[in-house]
Amino acid sequence: MGMNRILQGIMRYRQTYRESMVKQFEVVRDDPHPKAVFFTCIDSRMLPTRFTQTNIGDMFIVRNAGNLVPHANLSGHEEITTEPAALELGCVINGIKHVIVCGHSDCKAMNMLHLMRNSDRTLHEVLKLSPLKAWLVRHGHSSIVKFAQLEVSDFQAPLVFQAETPMRRFVAYIDPENRFTVEDKLSQVNTLQQLQNIASYNFMREGLSRGRVYIHALWFDIYTGDIYYFSRQQKRFVDVNETNMERLLEEVLNIFKRKTPEPQPSTSKDSSVAPTSASDFVGFTTEPQPSTSKGSSVAPTSASDFIGIESEDSDSE
Ligand SMILES: [Zn+2]
Repeated sequence: MGMNRILQGIMRYRQTYRESMVKQFEVVRDDPHPKAVFFTCIDSRMLPTRFTQTNIGDMFIVRNAGNLVPHANLSGHEEITTEPAALELGCVINGIKHVIVCGHSDCKAMNMLHLMRNSDRTLHEVLKLSPLKAWLVRHGHSSIVKFAQLEVSDFQAPLVFQAETPMRRFVAYIDPENRFTVEDKLSQVNTLQQLQNIASYNFMREGLSRGRVYIHALWFDIYTGDIYYFSRQQKRFVDVNETNMERLLEEVLNIFKRKTPEPQPSTSKDSSVAPTSASDFVGFTTEPQPSTSKGSSVAPTSASDFIGIESEDSDSE
């Protein structure tokens, strides 16, 4: 094992996959259509291209301890991180439309964050001791705050998260069937919290508010291999399986259906892109009652599924 495993693997690759991969590289070079920017954990058990069965050219993958995306306020001239750079490269330069954050169960980073949450060490002290802990404390703090809200309700009350814009919020019941450990619940909260962090960057704002970019959350259960998609309609992580697939696909197609053409890489800032219309956001309705101005064609999603979307109308035709 060890380095042997890697070198032997390279030999096997040369004899098997290399030729077909080189052909795929050529196809992608001539016709690049990356589908998603995918944030996940560095955990060695996470193999995102395998469990999504995606291929060369499909995804930009960013990995770090705890699948964290630093909030814009914590990432600036003083502190440059790769996550916003990946968002810019993916969504602005390459016109990628979907950003996915994928957390997982038994996440060592989340377990550590959970252990440290009552620590009274300062960030400076932690940084001297451990860059890993410093990373988790600094960029996982907002998840801990959210998690505390869940904890005081004995893990019953729903949480409210922000997605694409400050007004596009959604409700989430975390592990309502109580199947996972508290650390796994934190991991799910943390995964959803990153959506807001992604939306915190100015350069993402136009794409997100105009519906050219969407943010999704996935969660991988390491011990069963089950993969969950966060359904804003069902307000929880839903197992992606043969029974649920059709409904999830419908939700994704309806909610994220766009009338505007796919953005081209070099025109992503072009102001000629059509403004969004209310019907582009079927499913995003207001709480407590859907706005009557959106007409009867709006899909019959429950009003409480999405809250506070009203001000989005300023973007509408
Ligand atoms: Zn992890």
